[in-house]
Amino acid sequence: AVADYVAHNPRSQTLCEVAAHVLPGGNTRSVLYHPPFPLTMVRGEGCWLWDADGHVYIDTLGEFTAGLFGHSDKTVRAALQEALVGGLNLSSHTAREARLGHEIQRRFPSMALMRFTNSGTEANLMAVAAATVHTGRRKVMVFDGAYHGGVLSFAGGGSPVNVPHDWLVAPYNDLEYAAALVRRHGADLAAILVEPMLGSGGCIPGTPAFLRGLRDLASDCNALLILDEVMTSRLSFGGRQALLDITPDLTTAGKYLGGGLSFGVFGGRADVMDRFDPRRSDALAHAGTFNNNVLSMAAGHAALSRVLTAEALDALNARGDHLRERLNALFAYEGVALQATGLGSLLTLHATDRPIRNAGDLAGSDLRVKDLLFFDLMARGIFLARRGMMALSLPLGEAECDCVLGAMLEIVELRQALLP
Ligand code: PMP
Repeated sequence: AVADYVAHNPRSQTLCEVAAHVLPGGNTRSVLYHPPFPLTMVRGEGCWLWDADGHVYIDTLGEFTAGLFGHSDKTVRAALQEALVGGLNLSSHTAREARLGHEIQRRFPSMALMRFTNSGTEANLMAVAAATVHTGRRKVMVFDGAYHGGVLSFAGGGSPVNVPHDWLVAPYNDLEYAAALVRRHGADLAAILVEPMLGSGGCIPGTPAFLRGLRDLASDCNALLILDEVMTSRLSFGGRQALLDITPDLTTAGKYLGGGLSFGVFGGRADVMDRFDPRRSDALAHAGTFNNNVLSMAAGHAALSRVLTAEALDALNARGDHLRERLNALFAYEGVALQATGLGSLLTLHATDRPIRNAGDLAGSDLRVKDLLFFDLMARGIFLARRGMMALSLPLGEAECDCVLGAMLEIVELRQALLP
């Protein structure tokens, strides 16, 4: 499969080599690299992508969830064009930031007050900072396999470049373990930072009992519960917190909320967020030249107020549920140990049929099988992440889901002997 990939993508290979003269490995965003080299894209439209060698793909990756509106949403484009005409970098506030803030608050009422950032990474950094300042405590509970940003990554026990905090790393979906940590460290615990579903970690949903239990544990020891909904905010109009009726103290989000442009947001309880009020003598500073950049504000507001209605979002998530169910039915019918996990429009393929509740459950699974699926799907015009992730976008309809299923059926039948 890899030899075919190299033979079919000479232009992408050359472009990667050229890029490597200025960027390490030709890369400025680690998640995009995979051997022998990733594809270089030249154009996108709707849910379609064109690469440098002229191949066309169905984009099931949707920019790791930020591409929810597809590549060419007319409303978002018009808003960007209108904003461009009014000038960039206006050196002060515009009315756009409060407008976007109201739109976000309408969806996530737990965000009584919020602040914008340029990325989800920054949003999480700021939320953790707010929690440590608010509580006067240092420790932060996080979960093995969680990803909260480039310097907040807890896959495989943590990243050497993580920002220095006093982290307590617990297994996901293990409330007893978390409770034991709270019994030991509760008095020093500033926050529990958790994704309602491990996203990068493999689309592993937190159980309702686990997530509600964390809410109670945080309240019991006066720590803040920070829900990282950077990926899961799309699972309903009010995110996964609305689906589970959990009110976090702080929420972080980003990705599609900026209409496909760089964006992040953190917010929550007024008494916590009030600390950022610059009229206070003890105000916490939170700067950032591009926190209110005109293009992200315009795209985000147009996308949320006029494109992503509750109905459109529900239909998208139903499409994802349907695709996941059909993939799993196919795997069961063919008797192969593969599965698609996730919720709604977010899916990840795994090379095991055992239940997956946390990172430990993935430890033994065969990455070569995942790679085989990846290259075989790409060869059939289905673009996804090497780790098997898909994040469906609004323009990706049932017909494209049928193509994914058709490609998978072909691959499973062709590769039967190589699959677990
Ligand atoms: N939190 C989660 C749950 C994420 O999935 C991501 C990005 N994949 C981030 C935070 C970081 O967001 P960004 O890439 O915008 O910094």
